[in-house]
Amino acid sequence: MDTLVPILIVFILGAAIGSFLNVVVYRLPVGLSLIYPPSRCPRCETGLKPYDNVPVLGWLWLKGKCRSCRLPIAMRYPMVEFATGCLFVAVFLVFGTTWQTLGHWIFVCWLLTLALIDLDTMTLPNVLTASGLLLGWGFQGWLSYLSQPSLSHVAGGVMSAMIVSMVGLWAFDLIGVMGSRAFGKPAMGGGDAKLAAMMAAWLGWQGLLLSTFLAAAMGAVIGGTALALGALGPKQHIPFGPYLALGALLAMFYGEQLIGAYLAIFFRWAYRLALLMRGLGFGWASAMWRVSLSDAVRGLQHRPIRILGQIVQ
Ligand SMILES: [Zn+2]
Repeated sequence: MDTLVPILIVFILGAAIGSFLNVVVYRLPVGLSLIYPPSRCPRCETGLKPYDNVPVLGWLWLKGKCRSCRLPIAMRYPMVEFATGCLFVAVFLVFGTTWQTLGHWIFVCWLLTLALIDLDTMTLPNVLTASGLLLGWGFQGWLSYLSQPSLSHVAGGVMSAMIVSMVGLWAFDLIGVMGSRAFGKPAMGGGDAKLAAMMAAWLGWQGLLLSTFLAAAMGAVIGGTALALGALGPKQHIPFGPYLALGALLAMFYGEQLIGAYLAIFFRWAYRLALLMRGLGFGWASAMWRVSLSDAVRGLQHRPIRILGQIVQ
């Protein structure tokens, strides 16, 4: 009961914000005001009663139809509200009552909105990727401030987030250009590179690498299946943004475990290499290799991502 009440409150908060995200997804691409007029039926323009505007439940007791003209309301609206509520709870369970939770709630909102707009319109609005990028830099600055409240430390945190974003942007642009050359058609939209820069600001370069890998893998599996089932023509364009957003969510929740599992495999092979070196008579090289390995493994138990960073740097 003690844990259930906060979880319920967080879910309701998330679902209510999800309800607003629906409005943003619907109105932002066509340039409508996000605040006025309040939610109404697109056909008969009857405003929604406050009690019909309750996330998820409102749709259920209206049985998915407008109260006055019976126009069906898309099931996606309550689904987005429900999903946002669940993601808010998941973030809360992972990060607890910390600033990390607040930051990741914001990140989740931006990812969801961008993914849905990309699905609908095949575009990632600049106003969202740019604001998400700035918020990501601000978040890294704030985390730096919390760990050490000095100006140089905060500036360092923001600067490294900026550099990582720039590198992510360039890398994605480069992949996009190479992909276009290889396939003779645009492989990625310019918005994808900006989304990547935003994700890098929030997740760091390791997180961006992991989410891109996951996105490409999911895109290949899901896109390939759709193509095989005939649900998708070979010329049809598939937006990459939703996959990137999904990859970012997975990296956010499971990044440490996934990178840790990958490193565990890597170290197992590295250790075999050390044994092989000793077997071949390079005893000194083997010893040095194993000392550096065991140092890395010791740190790994705490912060796999940070250690991976140190190894690669
Ligand atoms: Zn209506």
